[in-house]
Order: sequence, then structure tokens, then C-alpha cells
Amino acid sequence: MSTTIAVFTRDLRIHDNPMLAAASRDTDHVVPLFVRDHRIGASRFAAGRLRFLDESLADLDTSLRAKGGRLVLREGSPVEEICRVATATDATRVHIAGDVSAFAKAREAELAGALGRRELVVHHDVHTVVPPGALRPQSRDHFAVFSAYHRRWSDHGWRGLQPAPERITLPKIQLGDVPKAKGHGGETAGRCRADAWLHADVQHYVDQHDVLAADRTSRLSPYLHLGCVSALELARRAGKSAGAEAFVRQLAWRDFHHQVLAARPDAAHRDYRHRGDRWRDDKNALQAWQEGRTGIPIVDAGMRQLRAEGWMHNRARLITGSFLTKTLYLDWRAGAEHFFTWLLDGDVVNNCLNWQWVAGTGTDSRPNRVLNPLLQAERYDPDGEYVRRYVPELSHVDDKQVHRPWRLPAAERRGYPAPIVDLADGRARFLAARGK
Ligand code: FAD
Repeated sequence: MSTTIAVFTRDLRIHDNPMLAAASRDTDHVVPLFVRDHRIGASRFAAGRLRFLDESLADLDTSLRAKGGRLVLREGSPVEEICRVATATDATRVHIAGDVSAFAKAREAELAGALGRRELVVHHDVHTVVPPGALRPQSRDHFAVFSAYHRRWSDHGWRGLQPAPERITLPKIQLGDVPKAKGHGGETAGRCRADAWLHADVQHYVDQHDVLAADRTSRLSPYLHLGCVSALELARRAGKSAGAEAFVRQLAWRDFHHQVLAARPDAAHRDYRHRGDRWRDDKNALQAWQEGRTGIPIVDAGMRQLRAEGWMHNRARLITGSFLTKTLYLDWRAGAEHFFTWLLDGDVVNNCLNWQWVAGTGTDSRPNRVLNPLLQAERYDPDGEYVRRYVPELSHVDDKQVHRPWRLPAAERRGYPAPIVDLADGRARFLAARGK
């Protein structure tokens, strides 16, 4: 009797999962295994993030049961636990998705060594539409400019979709404590959202994706982050409308960041392009930003949406990120850390590289651009609906005043704070620091 192990990481799905499909082929028994890594401290994450993971694991277990299998759960060091399961079941092969962070690469290398005579099969086509490293410019190991990458990405062929395995047969094994949580997380909910999005909403994406109050982006990011839905399947199913093309372009951005981090894993914490910044250390300003009390309504609305929903609209991420790094001139790492704690979709790849893009230390070709939050507010929240939704102190204020409440008499501000910075001064300080 032959046994293989399918190690799930952030690919918590049975549909279009090349890792699971390969592990279930030509074998008698499969162990679908997830190891909670004890080094990833739970205290680092907001409760919503942990719940989303539990819900996704519970849902994966349900899907595997429907195929005759179960999810096997372990807690501890992934390498030790995988080896222990391999020994207990006498598995000949272990399958795992390849990933791009330094952390994942180190785990993979350690696992390859620890498995000894057992074979480790690493699948590089699980997380992205086009595998990181599949596309290279002539003279470098990765693309540093999105537009050039996107051209090549669009011309590159995509692999076919992998069906879910028909049947999964477990060997005799102790299952472990799979969570029972139910909610919005997981493949079933993710596929429902994807179906509804691709069927009805994607066509509005091209002209609505930047309208803050409309909230008409896909909100698929938490599912993409944990791999509950396949990026490739979304790209394949999106269709050809202008909205679909704009949406698929965002998936290309996701792939772009993956290939940057694959080539430069230290970009998770070190400037991709160092600009000689000497970021300010201002704990009060950082705290006001984190708590949504900066006195700039559009910034505070975004920061409060983050805490309330574990998600923030992309336009608000750009505005709040630019405000932190370029108006307050605080280190992008502090912003990334805070987002990482709260975002359901918070991942090393997209979070760090988007933060670097916003801070002008990443791949933005205009690294010194400073978004003016008032102009952004007037453009992307023209009637103030987004601000009124997330900043209750201002819910009674009309469209004209809501983005500039400092002009109101104190009683009408209902305790909403005065701005912690003069926007023009902040901008001037940043440009001077950058030598502009
Ligand atoms: P949609 O607009 O519907 O886009 C579809 C998918 O494309 C998204 O789910 C996402 O997977 C991908 N995508 C969209 N925009 C980007 C982008 N700029 N870069 C890479 N992929 C993108 N996204 C994350 O998934 N995780 C993060 O931790 C994260 N941190 C960010 C931090 C900052 C400062 C900024 C400016 C952006 C960040 N983003 C991050 C990118 C983007 O804001 C989110 O992916 C998007 O808002 C998620 O909402 P959606 O699923 O409705 O996106």
C-alpha cells in the first residue's frame, strides 16, 4: 500500500489545487495534512484573522470528508510534524506548494533535508496565475516594472484547471483537533463569492473600483490569501469584458509582487530601493493613525474600517499608507505591521510590497508622489458617504463640510479631533528629506 502526504499551507482548497491533485494520483492512501506552526504567534493577529483561518480549515475538512477523507491537523514545528506523520504512515512522498517568502523557503529546504529518502515534491503553480520565476527580463532575475511584466504575463500561457480529486482514502491515522468554526471563511464561501462576482459584478469593476462608498471590488482577497480560491481559476473564468480585464490586471499585480519577493525575499523588511530615508519616530502620531484619530476624516475612515471589518478598500489603503509614510514621514514597516495584524488578507507578499510602493521605496516609478488626502477624498468620496459610514462623530455633517470638519464650530465636531499635522508642512518635510 502506498501513501503520500498532501501538506496544505496557504492553499486551503480542493478545486484547482495542483498540489492535492498530484498527491492523490497513483497512490492508495493520502494524508491531507495541515500543521499549525507554533512559531507564528497567535498574539500577533487580530481575532478575526485567526477565526477566518479556523473557518477555512473546518470547511476544508468538510470538503475532504465528502471525498471520503479528512483533514489531519497537527501543531508544532511543521518540519518535525510532517516527518512524524511520514514515519507513522510510511509515506514515500510529500507534496507541498512552493512559496516565495524567506520563511517558506527556509521551511522547504529544511523539510527536504529532514525527509531523507522520502521524496519532496514542490509545486510552484499553486498560488499564482503564472508561477513566480516563469517570466524573466533579459538582463535581470525578475521584473521590477509592472507594465513590462504585465505585457509578458498576458502573452504567457496559463496551465489548465485541475479538478478536485474524486476520492481520498486515508491510512490509519490520528486526526487531531480540526476546528468546527463556521462563518465567512473557507473554500465554499469563497467559491460562492467568486461565482456571484464573476456572474454579476465584475463588469462594473472598471468604473467603480475606486469609488470608496460603492464598495464594488470583489472582496476576494482574504480567500486568495489563504488559497481558498485559485487565482488562476478566477483569471480563467473572468471573461473578456472591460471590467474583467481590469480585474485580471489586479491578479497580475499579485503575481508581479510574488515574483519580486521570490527574487528579493528581504524586501519583506528591507527597502527594495533605498532612498536614504531617516523616518521620524513619533509614537503619538503612529498611535493616532492606528486608531483613526488623525483628524483627517478620509484617513480615519480607512483606519476604522480596517479594525471594524479586517479589510480596507484599496483606495483607502493608498491614502492611509501615503499619509503615514509621506505626510507623517513614519516608517512603512510600522504601517505594514499594523495592517498585517488586522487584515484578513494580510500577507507578506502583497502587504510589504504595496507598502513599499506607497512609501516610494518599492517599484513605483514616481517614488516621491504624495497623495493629498483632501483631493483624494473629494475625488473618491465626493459626497462623504464613506467617511460618514466609518466616522460616527461626523455622521450628521453635510457633503461640503465632511472632509474638512476643522471649519465647523467645536460643538458640531462632537469630539472629533483637530488634524495632527498640517498637510502642506508634512509634504514639504517629506520632499525636503528626499532632496526634492
Ligand atoms: P479587487 O480589487 O477585487 O482585486 C482582486 C484581487 O487582485 C485582490 O483580491 C488581490 O488578490 C489582487 N490585488 C488587487 N490589488 C492588488 C495590489 N495592489 N497588489 C497585489 N494584488 C492586488 N492585498 C492583499 O491581498 N494583502 C495585503 O496584505 C495587502 N496590503 C496592502 C497594503 C497597502 C498599503 C496597499 C496600498 C495595498 C495592499 N493590498 C493588499 C492590495 C489591495 O489593496 C488588496 O488586494 C485589495 O484591496 C483587496 O480587495 P479586493 O479583493 O476587493 O480587490
